[in-house]
Amino acid sequence: MDYVSTRGEAPKLNFEEVLLAGLARDGGLYLPERWPTFDQDRVASFAGRPFHEVAVEVIHPFVGNTVGREALSEMAREAYECFGHAAVTPLVQIDNNRFVLELFHGPTLAFKDVAMQLLARLMEHVLQKRGSKTTIVGATSGDTGGAAIEAFRGASNVDVFILFPEGRVSDVQRRMMTTPADKNVHAIAVRGTFDDCQAHVKAMFNNHAFRDRVQLSGVNSINWARIVAQITYYFVAASALGAPHRRVSFSVPTGNFGDIFAGYAAKRMGLAIDRLVIASNENDILPRTLATGSYEMRGVVATTSPSMDIQISSNFERYLFEASGRDSGAVRRQMESLKQSQRFELDAKLAAAMEQDFLAESASEVDVAGCIRKVLSGSGYLAEPHTACGIHACEKALQGDDRSVPQVVLSTAHPAKFPDAMEGITGARPQLPERLQGLMSDPERFKVLDNDASVIEAYVEDNARAIGAG
Ligand SMILES: *Cc1c(COP(=O)(O)O)cnc(C)c1O
Repeated sequence: MDYVSTRGEAPKLNFEEVLLAGLARDGGLYLPERWPTFDQDRVASFAGRPFHEVAVEVIHPFVGNTVGREALSEMAREAYECFGHAAVTPLVQIDNNRFVLELFHGPTLAFKDVAMQLLARLMEHVLQKRGSKTTIVGATSGDTGGAAIEAFRGASNVDVFILFPEGRVSDVQRRMMTTPADKNVHAIAVRGTFDDCQAHVKAMFNNHAFRDRVQLSGVNSINWARIVAQITYYFVAASALGAPHRRVSFSVPTGNFGDIFAGYAAKRMGLAIDRLVIASNENDILPRTLATGSYEMRGVVATTSPSMDIQISSNFERYLFEASGRDSGAVRRQMESLKQSQRFELDAKLAAAMEQDFLAESASEVDVAGCIRKVLSGSGYLAEPHTACGIHACEKALQGDDRSVPQVVLSTAHPAKFPDAMEGITGARPQLPERLQGLMSDPERFKVLDNDASVIEAYVEDNARAIGAG
């Protein structure tokens, strides 16, 4: 399987190359040249099978012959063994025909573990085969950093450096980055903001000499391997609820558009998805785009669902490419307009396609709190704020829908990850799961660095094993 860039000006790459490259050299994102498809019997055969087995079925066609099926099976088995629930992503019923798909049973209690655990193993495998090493540098406002450090800790060929804004992430989030003692993971508290951290990472990628010296790689959701690993749970959940004989709808708490794009991919692969609902918080760029046909950036507001406090949804570029019939010229013009004037327009064809493919709703902070209390009293289920955005959007967008179609809301985090917000809304502080009891008392280890690009680059260079390893 070859991969093409959404901007049409970068070379085609295979899976292994896409995995290590992340962003395409023309600034675009990679997509498979064609979508593999599964017939109905194949989808029906997923029902009741272990998560890691379905993962291999779903992912193997994308990997092609760059990773053997045996090796992939082994990696998938290991990746999902560390989850705190035997079903990996269990479904919980919260209302008549409405279910929550819990994606937060991984080591850092956020859905990012599902993809990151497999991505780390794939990278190690490929680097081992090539006899090379890589350095991952990322900035985090919370969840991605912990998931990356947890997934790559102890890796022989990968060093991970995560920049976070000192004093601006929650205690639970910081400790998930600072308590792993492995020598190859480096949590760096920068004396600055999240935007500063992100700017330093961008600068490192743009410093080509540095980039080559340390063999720089990225693991944010523009990396195709992360999206691929998220397609699995759409097949697992839908087949458990009767697909392909019964259609299923999904509501997805959305920030960077990665998770919901995985749902769109599942549909393209033949899964009988009825509706895909984009759920946002007050940062509602996507619902506004669907309503007005104009993608228009505004300032970010801080909410109780911080992982969705985003104003550019990077993976939306992948959808634009698909919905325009893979018109990379059009994508380039849209992205240029976004850069120049913070907006672009969908043409009539694109607007119609988006209306066909998605519904979208945003939740205010009042909606989120009300939804959490209502679900708690109605079913005893405790949803955290990102999940509540999903439930709220599901209720609004799908009211009056065919009641025989099950509605699945993706739950992207565990309530204990946001104890202050939860206490403010319900009056009670949710407890961390048993297996994480040591988190709040384990010793922390992190480096505090000045908000200065040259200081941070020097630190990475001094500690990266990829230097001189070729
Ligand atoms: C990252 C994240 C999201 C948003 O997912 P995208 O793939 O960026 O749309 C939603 N909820 C939580 C808890 C997250 O960590």
